[in-house]
Amino acid sequence: MTKDQIKQEIIRYGNMLIEKGLCTGTGGNISVRMPENNGFMITPSGILYSEIVPDDIVTMDFEGNIIEGSRTPSIERNMHRAIFNARPDVNAIVHTHQNFASAIAATRQDFPPILDAFVAVFGGGLKCAKYGSIGTEELARNVVEGLGNRNGVLLANHGVLCTGKDLAMAFGNCEFLEASAITYCFANIIGKPVVLDHEIVEKEAADLARRYGQR
Ligand code: 13P
Ligand code: ZN
Repeated sequence: MTKDQIKQEIIRYGNMLIEKGLCTGTGGNISVRMPENNGFMITPSGILYSEIVPDDIVTMDFEGNIIEGSRTPSIERNMHRAIFNARPDVNAIVHTHQNFASAIAATRQDFPPILDAFVAVFGGGLKCAKYGSIGTEELARNVVEGLGNRNGVLLANHGVLCTGKDLAMAFGNCEFLEASAITYCFANIIGKPVVLDHEIVEKEAADLARRYGQR
C-alpha cells in the first residue's frame, strides 16, 4: 500500500469506529506501521473522524519525532509507539472506548477465557493493564506489559486496545472483543460464567490455530 492508501484506510476505519458504536466523538485512535518499517502513521488528536482528511494523519518515527504532518498526533502516541517497538509482529493498533469491554475495564478485572471462539481468536484470556492516566508514559508502559504477546488488552478505567498484522485484523479484534464482552456481562447477570481450564485453553489455542479455516 502507498502512504496515501494507508491514510485513506486509517480514515475509513476511524469512521467505522463511530458507525459500529465502538467510540463516540473523538474517542479512540488508530495507527499503522509504515511498510518499510521506518515509522508509523497515527490519527490526529481531538478531531472528529468524519472531519479527518489525509493531510491530518501524522507520520512519526519510533523515537517519537514527527516526520510528516502539521497536526498534533493522538495524545496516546507514546502508547502506540511503545507497542510498535515491543511487538515487531504488530502492524496496526486500534484503541477504543467500546462500552461493554470498558465496563469490565472499569472493574479492573482481567477478561477470563469463557468462550471457545475467544480462545481461538486471542489464544486465551486478556489482561486488564494497570491504571495510567490518559496519554502518559505510565499508561504506555502498563499497556505494553498487559498486552504481552496477545492481540488485545483492557485499559483500566478507560477502554481497550487491539492489535493485528493489519488494520482489518486489529479492528476485527476490537469488534470481536466487544461481542464477547456483551456475552460475558450477561453471563454474569444470569449466573457465574465458567472459566475454561488452563489445559483446555492451551490445547484449543494450539489446535484451532492449526485446524480452523482454510489451508
Ligand atoms: P486523541 O483524540 O488524542 O487520539 O485521544 C482520544 C483518546 O481516546 C485518548 O485516550
Ligand atoms: Zn482513549
